[in-house]
Amino acid sequence: MDLQGHRGARGYLPENTLPGFSRALEIGVNTLELDVGVTRDGVVVVHHDRGLNPDIARGPDGNWVPKALPINSMTYAELQRYDVGRLRPGSDYAKRFPKQQPLDGTRVPRLAELFALAQKNKAVRFNIEPKSDLEAPHETLAPEPFARALIAEVRKAGMERRTTVQAFDWRLLKVVEREAPELATVYCTEGKGSDPARVHAAGGKIWSPDFEMLTPERLAAARKWGMKVTVWTVNEPADIARMLAMSVDGIASDYPDRVLAQLKVRQ
Ligand code: MG
Repeated sequence: MDLQGHRGARGYLPENTLPGFSRALEIGVNTLELDVGVTRDGVVVVHHDRGLNPDIARGPDGNWVPKALPINSMTYAELQRYDVGRLRPGSDYAKRFPKQQPLDGTRVPRLAELFALAQKNKAVRFNIEPKSDLEAPHETLAPEPFARALIAEVRKAGMERRTTVQAFDWRLLKVVEREAPELATVYCTEGKGSDPARVHAAGGKIWSPDFEMLTPERLAAARKWGMKVTVWTVNEPADIARMLAMSVDGIASDYPDRVLAQLKVRQ
């Protein structure tokens, strides 16, 4: 069972930040799950949204950004002026993660910094999600240059054997399969699109649905086609228990310690 710390350990520390990833490593995850974008000057950075999230980011003036600022419109130096160490008080997002401890002054990290941080841990793996959207083609790089930028970073750090690339935008996965076959690819699905037949038809070997869409029938179909199945994002103990009982291959959680606790009980 691959235990993945979702965006680090989002339940406890600011998402997709170096302190958050450190916490996930302390908890003992197998894999760090993270999202990446590319700045205007070509730096691969760790952030979930295509734009800086108004519920997460504050500008140099200390004010929350009024709307999502596309990361690909900023240089890395400009991006470093934003603080992503606290959820905006009173926002729905903050209400979802009441245990998240703020760390004011935390910046969006480069992917290279995360690899350096994890260098001491010789076993941890990385499940990296380049964030693009068919409906917002101008807010990210196109699939080919985006995938190439990510592949280059992974190879530079020598992390090919420890990295999977996952995406909802499967065009990126096809570029990775063609240009970096040493990297495994993970086909993400959400809601009604969570049909393993689609993944099978696309040539996927690892399927990652939202856990609420994983039925025994869909799991059996995926197994029949020889797919591995990793689910996101499972936070409530009863849901974690149900997924473990279904013998999924991986679970991404904002509270990876909760998954670990149940794994220990089940041993
Ligand atoms: Mg992700």
